[in-house]
This record gives sequence, C-alpha cells and structure tokens, in this order.
Amino acid sequence: MKAQRRLMLTRFLLSWRRRDRGKMLFRTHIAFGIFLVLLFLGVVEERILFFAVVLIATALVDIDTEHSRAGKFLPFRIVQFFVKHRGVIHSLTFSFVFALVLSSFYPLAGFAFFIGAGGHIFLDSFTRDGVAPFWPSKKVSKGFVRTGGRIEGLVFAFLVFVDVVFGVWRVF
Ligand SMILES: [Zn+2]
Repeated sequence: MKAQRRLMLTRFLLSWRRRDRGKMLFRTHIAFGIFLVLLFLGVVEERILFFAVVLIATALVDIDTEHSRAGKFLPFRIVQFFVKHRGVIHSLTFSFVFALVLSSFYPLAGFAFFIGAGGHIFLDSFTRDGVAPFWPSKKVSKGFVRTGGRIEGLVFAFLVFVDVVFGVWRVF
C-alpha cells in the first residue's frame, strides 16, 4: 500500500514536471518579483500598491498556459484559446503596451506592471524553450535552464537568500 502510494506520487511529480516544460516555476517568478520590488522600493511612494502589482503582473504572464497557477482560472482558459503559450503575452511588446494603458489611469501601476511582467519574461528567456520578447518578431531568446531542474532549484534558493538578506537590510 505504501509502495503503491509512493509510485503514484512519483508519477504525479514526473507528469507535472513534464507538462511544465519550457517555463520557470511559479515560485521562482515570485522570488524574482520580490527581488525586483526590493530593488525599486527606495524610489516608489506607494509601496504596498507597487508590491502587489509587481507580483500580480509576474504571475499573470503565464495565463497563456493552462498548466500555470494563474492559467488554471476559467476566464484565462478563454485567453488560451486565442493565444499560444510563449506568444504575444510572453513579450515585452505586450507588457509595454499594457503598462502604457495602465499608466494613463495610474502611472505607478503601469510602471509596476512593466517591472513584474518584464522580470518574468527575462527569467523565461533562460529556459530551453525561451521566449520571443519582441513580438511580432519571432526571434527567440533562450538558454539552458530546465523547468524544475537543478539549475532552477539553485536559482530559486539563491533568490530566496537574496530576498531575505535584501529585505532585512531594506526594512531595518
Ligand atoms: Zn512564463
């Protein structure tokens, strides 16, 4: 019974990894988002708003895949029908235009959105599948990082460490 359960768990983890191929994990994006927030904390006034929008933006970029946290929500399934993963939404072009629109209502939110989404695209550009940051140009930027692999694990651990040290230094 125990062995069977272990086998099921292993299978689940493996399949989850396979389906997630080609993008960074949610947790890595969030850790990098927090780093970016800390980086800009000294120059923004409404810190809470900035923090929230950066993290939301960094999570939202993956709405174009049903295998991401954000993409699991029903309304985004409709988005996935129209755009392909790592297409237009995974581009700096889209982030910039969206940030510009947002800026006309609330400049800080626009800035925060671009920081969050841009950070996400920057990280994804190191993965094996890469991204096409300057859509509609199809030129792909890619690297050697495998999703959920050892390198991503190290990057995540490093980011958490930096976030904690940087965070303590910023706050105190
Ligand atoms: Zn992504």
